[in-house]
Amino acid sequence: MSREVEMKKGYFGEFGGSFIPEELQKVMDILEENFEYYKNDPEFIAEYNYYLKEYVGRENPLTFAENITEYANGAKIYLKREDLNHTGAHKINNVIGQILLAKRMGAKRIIAETGAGQHGVATATACAMFKMECIVYMGKLDTERQALNVFRMEVLGAKVISVDAGQGRLKDAVDAALNDLVENYQHTFYLLGSVVGPHPFPTMVKHFQSIISEESKKQILEKEGKLPTAVVACTGGGSNAIGAFAHYIDEEDVRLIGVEPAEAPTLTEGVSAVIHGFRCLTLIDEEGNPKPTYSISAGLDYPGIGPEHSYLKESGRAEYVTVTGDEALEAFQLLSIKEGILPALESAHAISYAIKLAKELSHDDIIIVNLSGRGDKDVEQVFKLLNK
Ligand SMILES: *Cc1c(COP(=O)(O)O)cnc(C)c1O
Repeated sequence: MSREVEMKKGYFGEFGGSFIPEELQKVMDILEENFEYYKNDPEFIAEYNYYLKEYVGRENPLTFAENITEYANGAKIYLKREDLNHTGAHKINNVIGQILLAKRMGAKRIIAETGAGQHGVATATACAMFKMECIVYMGKLDTERQALNVFRMEVLGAKVISVDAGQGRLKDAVDAALNDLVENYQHTFYLLGSVVGPHPFPTMVKHFQSIISEESKKQILEKEGKLPTAVVACTGGGSNAIGAFAHYIDEEDVRLIGVEPAEAPTLTEGVSAVIHGFRCLTLIDEEGNPKPTYSISAGLDYPGIGPEHSYLKESGRAEYVTVTGDEALEAFQLLSIKEGILPALESAHAISYAIKLAKELSHDDIIIVNLSGRGDKDVEQVFKLLNK
């Protein structure tokens, strides 16, 4: 098969692909081959499901949010509880999948990038369990914003490398991790945290996150006997959203809504460009470089977005909206006081929009919000924001 035909597999319309040095392309080809083989291997699937159940704590509930439903006085709101996973967010679903793959590929050293620290914590956690060396790259600014997560990773045995280059943000951590991989690819597995980067990462991470909608679809049919009117999820790189959408993409009556921070409106305002080895809608400056963004939630602070979201946007299959940091902060408090659930600030963006939407819909409508993570990590920051 020619390279050109092979590459088409990693495309969603014009988006995706693999724009990387030849040396790195070889690593991606091997990764793709292994992923394509093991994702259908019954033993691999059984092991993945075993750890999701026994270690992550799946299946997690689809909780009917009675009180915010009453408050919105419109559509019924259900919460898919990724916040209840071990390590407190959806990221572990993907980490377990990739680390099992890394083990089969004979890797001993895992590298990862992290923004809010959630992916780093999930990776460090799994590396401890699977006896892997763990290096986590994190932007310097993010290490300051999420100091406790840095310590958490270190307690778990990971080495956190603070990246001073550029803005000291997530995108700079990604660059540093890619440089490491180019130098050390023989023994190193790059465990990417979202549906971004060159092929096969967007496809592979989606595969491991699709468990979210596989469960929620079964759960909503059991509870309501019908599919939801809309599925709402926040988008940073786009992994919790694509996982929450995956099993509904072919159900044309189900609205798919991605919620971006108004401070980093990648899909709403982005243009098509290549960053970090793939093409997507992205915020770039006059020189064509990824633009620094400033969301209150570090986890949503990425100037690009998964290629499949870029395609879902352009094709009109999914809608993308924005919510401001202030609105997210309000939703954080609302969900806490009304439901006794502290959402991650990232997830609070989705909650905020879902409540707005619920008010416009009827009592027959159902909204599933993907509650991507719990808010314990953000309590200190919320305290500061509310007391400034
Ligand atoms: C990392 C993170 C996000 C954003 O990442 P996606 O890949 O867009 O899902 C959202 N919510 C939480 C809780 C996170 O930790």
